[in-house]
Amino acid sequence: MELKPLVLIVEDEDTICNFMTAILNSNGYRVLKTDSGGEGLAMTASYSPDVVLLDLGLPDIDGIDVLKKLRKWTKTPVVVVSARGQEQEKVEALDLGADDYIVKPFGTSELLARIRTALRHSPKSMGAESKGKDQFAVGDLKIDYGRRTVSLAGDTVHLTPVEYKILALLSKNAGKVLTHDYIIKEIWGPYSSDSHTLRVNMANLRRKIEKNPGEPNYILTEVGVGYRMAEELT
Ligand code: CA
Repeated sequence: MELKPLVLIVEDEDTICNFMTAILNSNGYRVLKTDSGGEGLAMTASYSPDVVLLDLGLPDIDGIDVLKKLRKWTKTPVVVVSARGQEQEKVEALDLGADDYIVKPFGTSELLARIRTALRHSPKSMGAESKGKDQFAVGDLKIDYGRRTVSLAGDTVHLTPVEYKILALLSKNAGKVLTHDYIIKEIWGPYSSDSHTLRVNMANLRRKIEKNPGEPNYILTEVGVGYRMAEELT
């Protein structure tokens, strides 16, 4: 029998913790929970969960510090649970190695989507499917990484090398949010920080692949954070 993925919830608000537990249990996950950051660290070490849901506002240790400590020794996927108004912490958490974030209040499908994506990009599952894939398809958009070609409903899309690199990066991480800083460093190298150039290239890329660039379907904007490639069209 296949072992169900184990999710560790580190969250001090009972209502949210119970809500998440109920959803996860009824969708085939096993759940462990704690309301303290210190215990969360210890439980990650002893139970080796497949994914950690980490609240940023914890009573004992700050969620950001829990994440820093975790990242010293484990790549276990971490989805940060943040409150509205914690924009800065959210970006900081992603840059410190969190895999994704979810903002309270959130719905069932959003929670499950974030967990599925985090599990798919986790080191444990990387060998199996996501690594070395040579094609990507969502809706009418197809990318062939081997040939470096992009098509939309069968028609070739002509991208500049930079536009292609951005699209390839986002699509290889489909479903996952990538911060502006992360994208800039991956495309232009560790010493750049030019968010204007990214915005210009993104606008051009969207004009070429989106039906309505103002309401994009493929590359979604995460306000104040970065971009996320859709895994399926909604
Ligand atoms: Ca809290």
